[in-house]
Amino acid sequence: MAKESLTNYKLQITNYRLFREAKKVIPGGVNSPVRSFKAVGGAPVFIKKASGSKFLAEDGKTYIDYCMSWGALLLGHAHSEVVSGVKKAVEKGTSYGAATKAETEFAKIITRAIPSCELARLVSSGTEAAMSAIRVARGYTRKNKIIKFKECYHGHSDYFLSGKSAGIPENISRDVYSLDYNNLEQAEEALEKDKDIACVIVEPIAANTGLILPLKSFLEGLRKLTLKHKALLIFDEVITGFRFCFGGVQNIFGIIPDLTCLGKIIGGGFPLACFGGKKEIMRHLAPLGSVYQAGTLSGNPVAVQAGLKTLEIIKKPGFYKRLNEKAGSFYKKIDGIIENKKTNIVLNRFGAMFHFSFKDKKQFSGFFHNLLAQGIYLSPAGDEVCFVSAAHTDKDFEITLKALNHLKERLV
Ligand code: PMP
Repeated sequence: MAKESLTNYKLQITNYRLFREAKKVIPGGVNSPVRSFKAVGGAPVFIKKASGSKFLAEDGKTYIDYCMSWGALLLGHAHSEVVSGVKKAVEKGTSYGAATKAETEFAKIITRAIPSCELARLVSSGTEAAMSAIRVARGYTRKNKIIKFKECYHGHSDYFLSGKSAGIPENISRDVYSLDYNNLEQAEEALEKDKDIACVIVEPIAANTGLILPLKSFLEGLRKLTLKHKALLIFDEVITGFRFCFGGVQNIFGIIPDLTCLGKIIGGGFPLACFGGKKEIMRHLAPLGSVYQAGTLSGNPVAVQAGLKTLEIIKKPGFYKRLNEKAGSFYKKIDGIIENKKTNIVLNRFGAMFHFSFKDKKQFSGFFHNLLAQGIYLSPAGDEVCFVSAAHTDKDFEITLKALNHLKERLV
């Protein structure tokens, strides 16, 4: 056996052993399904610690990370200023379940940065944000049904998983229209026909089934249609919020929804998310109104500090310009490799977010494992996007390009 394959074989043994132990006490060995490597095969990499653009795994190998906690880490792992902010916060108490000044400060930043958010409520996960947004939409409009799109993901609450998962009550599925992304006619037909639609929820750039850019006419059309039919438009910006600019995709496209969901980046790697919208709508939430929504750990002081520090750093002039340019020149070099080798891979990209798309989906697992063996960690599922962070260096890109070059020779 070649030396390289022998080393990788040993690494695999560590991963399989840890995975076997985990499976004895955790369903499928993981606390979120996509971590299990089910989509790519083999045992998942178990992470020991991380810093900047890389993590060290229990198998003893260091990997360049392009998953970045599924987009949560815009600054990379364990950014020193975020860590020191968090350390200070921890010493002052880890949870109060009561109001703090920092939450107001945080909400002020969000409401200034995101045009649709006049009031914002903090929660702990993107799922909670999206689930709460549709509840307030239903309470406000006094209608029941929702329109969502098949290519989008909004977390694991019942409404969003209808048709995709066992365990969802039939009556809930009946209230959900699951339509095709970028197909305005379908949305129009549903809204014309059914007067009980409370809201349309959409990722303004779809980033959970590869990377799909919206047609301008699609988002603009949804805005017009929802206004016409007195349904609310919800942008789920859990991935896209603060990824491309200090704000959301709504700032870039100039389309203002009624409600917005945020998560990932705003928590700086901690469980923090939020949803916000027009005062008139958000006032329906308890304690002001009758739509109930709550959380013991909502606005947790440690998470809020991590978020505040992150937002402070990424707000600095030039941050996004540098990040987007860096990502852009990396992609150009990848395009060059793809072209040179005449592969059937397409690199889709928008700002510091990218996705390798294959004609034959099955090819992804070989591609993933080849790169993994060379110390490059992509999001471990063909449908998932990858991320460039502020921590990625030219050296990281150089190593990645070399790995891609190497791999292409073997793949094609
Ligand atoms: N909305 C979108 C667009 C997401 O990508 C995700 C998670 N990937 C969620 C909601 C759910 O967020 P969480 O995993 O924090 O519950």
